Amino acid sequence: MFDFAVLGGGATGYGLALRLAADAAVQVALVEAGPAPAAILRRRRPRPAWRWATVAQPGLNGRAVALTAGKGLGGTAAWDAEAAPLPRPGNLTVFTDALAVRVLLQGRRATGVELHRAGLVQQLRAARAVVLCAGALQSPLLLMRSGIGPHAHLVAAGVATRHDLPGVGLQLQVPVRLPLPLRRGAFAAWGLRRSADDLELVLEQPASRGRLGLQGKDPAQPPRLDPDLLSDRDDVQALAQHLRATLAGLGAEGLRAARPWAGPLPDLALERLLREHAEPGIGVAGGCCQGDGPLAVVDAQLAVRGIAGLHVADASVLTQLPADSRAVAALGEPLAQALLRVA
Ligand SMILES: Cc1cc2nc3c(=O)[nH]c(=O)nc-3n(C[C@H](O)[C@H](O)[C@H](O)COP(=O)(O)OP(=O)(O)OC[C@H]3O[C@@H](n4cnc5c(N)ncnc54)[C@H](O)[C@@H]3O)c2cc1C
Repeated sequence: MFDFAVLGGGATGYGLALRLAADAAVQVALVEAGPAPAAILRRRRPRPAWRWATVAQPGLNGRAVALTAGKGLGGTAAWDAEAAPLPRPGNLTVFTDALAVRVLLQGRRATGVELHRAGLVQQLRAARAVVLCAGALQSPLLLMRSGIGPHAHLVAAGVATRHDLPGVGLQLQVPVRLPLPLRRGAFAAWGLRRSADDLELVLEQPASRGRLGLQGKDPAQPPRLDPDLLSDRDDVQALAQHLRATLAGLGAEGLRAARPWAGPLPDLALERLLREHAEPGIGVAGGCCQGDGPLAVVDAQLAVRGIAGLHVADASVLTQLPADSRAVAALGEPLAQALLRVA
């Protein structure tokens, strides 16, 4: 029996579990679907990652794209060498290569987690709290697989509703990048040297919001992922404006090299081009948003509304994309303090 179960050992979960386990009086279980850092380094490439296709995106001329998230202890940060050494404190038990599939509930209280590891189904009990730190693509799914989410959606997926929470899976925000595959001449005109990556424009706070949900109750099934990129006209206008300003800065020689982007492009043609080439950027927020409105999933203390002993602490609670992963990880400290205060 543990005191706390932390599900997901990424940017937030890894630090939170260490912080909780620093209290010698508590036993903490950290459940991570990916490998330990040493194993990540041994494998090097391809890096272990979640990669899921979206549904066809009307805002991208009907193209489906892929969203990616880091997988492994320390999250995406673990991709950088020694970022996350395997922890050795005695009251933290780390389960790597262990997929949390649902939160165990007793009435309206979270009591533990069911996980799949090495072909076995295992249940861990947590007497004080379960904390979801599985990231914006996974924490909403974990809630839904546990029967916590929009009732009609759960029914359609074949999951029995334990608590109707309409906002789970909504308000998903994904940045948009527009790669500009400029030829060498354009870079020379700018006085830039061509780097390994082509130039790109990034919309870091798009207005568009999407959603994700279950396609069925099998945890091996990929989610139905619909970030609805460029569905808000403000995003298209912002990108087009940014693009025109960038092209204007190229000068005559650069413009010649920047086809098909440059030239006398009317607004509609430019919009068609950018919808054809835009892609999701790095990072995802939303899906279990914090707030007090009808679509809020967690409250100001990151507690899941209507369920005792269950919290979410990762990018899924954010209503806006974070500046960097440190801003997500910072959610852990106040939550750790609050959890340790409550006996
Ligand atoms: C390729 C890439 C590069 C990035 N580069 C940067 C960068 O340079 N700078 C920056 O600031 N941000 C970067 N980010 C974004 C950054 O990783 C995220 O903002 C941040 O990691 C989000 O933290 P999180 O705690 O919400 O989730 P994550 O850090 O993604 O952690 C979630 C963890 O939970 C695990 N997990 C998920 N589901 C389950 C489950 N069912 N059971 C058990 N474990 C589970 C995952 O494997 C993962 O380890 C990058 C992201 C990607 C994908």
